Amino acid sequence: SSPNPRPAESGKRRPSVGVQIGKVIVGSGAPIVVQSMTNTDTEDASSTAKQIAELARAGSELVRITVNTPAAAAAVPRIRERLEMMGVDVPIIGDFHYNGHQLLESEPACAEALAKYRINPGNVGFGKKKDSQFAAIIEMALRYDKPVRIGANWGSLDQSMVATLMDENHTRAVPWDASHVAREALIRSALDSAQRAEEIGLARDRIILSCKVSGVQELIAVYRDLAARCDYALHLGLTEAGMGSKGITASSAALAVLLQEGIGDTIRISLTPEPGASRTGEVIVAQELLQTMGLRAFTPLVTACPGCGRTTSEFFQELAKTVQEHVREQMPLWRVKYDGVENLTLAVMGCVVNGPGESKHANIGISLPGNGEAPSAPVFIDGEKAMTLRGDNIANEFVGILDNYVAS
Ligand code: SF4
Repeated sequence: SSPNPRPAESGKRRPSVGVQIGKVIVGSGAPIVVQSMTNTDTEDASSTAKQIAELARAGSELVRITVNTPAAAAAVPRIRERLEMMGVDVPIIGDFHYNGHQLLESEPACAEALAKYRINPGNVGFGKKKDSQFAAIIEMALRYDKPVRIGANWGSLDQSMVATLMDENHTRAVPWDASHVAREALIRSALDSAQRAEEIGLARDRIILSCKVSGVQELIAVYRDLAARCDYALHLGLTEAGMGSKGITASSAALAVLLQEGIGDTIRISLTPEPGASRTGEVIVAQELLQTMGLRAFTPLVTACPGCGRTTSEFFQELAKTVQEHVREQMPLWRVKYDGVENLTLAVMGCVVNGPGESKHANIGISLPGNGEAPSAPVFIDGEKAMTLRGDNIANEFVGILDNYVAS
């Protein structure tokens, strides 16, 4: 195959076989699913259930937890019970490496409580044991009627596959470079494992694939190739994306290119949180990525200008922040009460240069007075100037106008 084909016309979703995970469908044209992963010790059922609930309430539609020890496997049904008591029914995915076959076999309640199993074909065993250990996990998936994600990772490449490809490379007229060999190892490892899973009896609509790497260009190349070579549903993610703005930028750059080409049925943004910071940041970034691309809508988006020498104070930035935070806080209630509220657009602008024009494009927009402008803030509702706010209470009044608009 070509190392870097473009499988989908821009804007069209790549056809894929849909996979049901609990109540969530991944693939077959279903809305692209946001997922995330906990960083608590799974053996600590209380902390893990609490974090899963936080992620789910932030909008994570699937949550993955590591299942790495017998105690962690034993904790899984207790985590499920705690979530039920909290009224949270998000599907939980078990992430297995090295000993998944043993843990699923020895803890039937864990195998039952999980909604999906993730298998890393590079970490499922070595040598002669590899095939039997992989088969054991697939047989557990069949016994408990669970889907699996076969998730290959650049950091844990199947070394026997790399060795095979290096041997093949010696026979090529123009040998592949090391990066191409690694990409092919990743893809073939996922595809061969999926084929093996089907031979054991797992249906195509029980299999999701991923091939994660940490470089933007490599990820794009790998997924274009993988997407062209199969119709399994695909999980997208830039692994080890990093902290803060670097992680957000790299993940968005890579995933946006692929999503624009119709590739990807579920996404995870793998951000390294600041010490002590909430894990929910990666869920918000994933939602904003999908929403700003026009692929899904989760919450009203606030358009705000960057501000410049025309802005008279920090009040404009504070108002933009107040409005964004207010919307996020209200969304759990608004989503239940007001159909379609997530599609609203809001504008908070720093002066009249672009303020009224941008406000007219939004459902509700406000332009604060800039340098040398009259101390008044025109508010536009559905493209028409509706009122002008003045004085010290503009922020509260504007939030009140927003609440009334949503309620109406
Ligand atoms: Fe500056 Fe006004 Fe443009 Fe905002 S809208 S960036 S304040 S000129």
